Amino acid sequence: KLENATAKAELGRASWKLFHTMMARFPEKPSEEDSLALKTYIQLFARLYPCGDCASHFQKLLKKFPPQISSRNSAAGWACHVHNQVNERLEKPMFDCNKIGDFYDCGCGDDKKAAGE
Ligand code: FAD
Repeated sequence: KLENATAKAELGRASWKLFHTMMARFPEKPSEEDSLALKTYIQLFARLYPCGDCASHFQKLLKKFPPQISSRNSAAGWACHVHNQVNERLEKPMFDCNKIGDFYDCGCGDDKKAAGE
């Protein structure tokens, strides 16, 4: 089947959105279990990412830049950095990782409270 650049780009945008939003919601002070879960998630994401070429490039990036999983800030900063590595390879503009702050908002509010409260 022919490559479809539009579908590939859409998959990328959706995936990055989930990826960064997940980092933005990762605990500021994760337990060891939280950190292991994130590390495992990232590794499986890289292994199972549906675009095979993308996945193999991304796996190489993970070897060069091991996932930072010790806090929300380090995870979000790391994810921004590796996305910039992909941007660089694809000749896309760099994102200013200092501005990652509230850029990714899941819209879930404080999920300890029930919806509508
Ligand atoms: P995207 O790169 O999808 O970014 C979406 C939005 O995220 C941007 O508009 C911006 O608001 C924000 N953003 C940009 N940079 C950052 C950053 N560093 N940190 C946080 N937010 C940021 N495509 C290929 O053609 N070849 C590949 O090998 C390839 N590998 C990929 C590997 C992975 C793991 C993923 C998730 C995607 C990959 N893609 C690849 C897709 C590619 O990265 C883009 O998603 C796609 O080309 C669409 O690009 P875009 O310009 O819309 O912006």
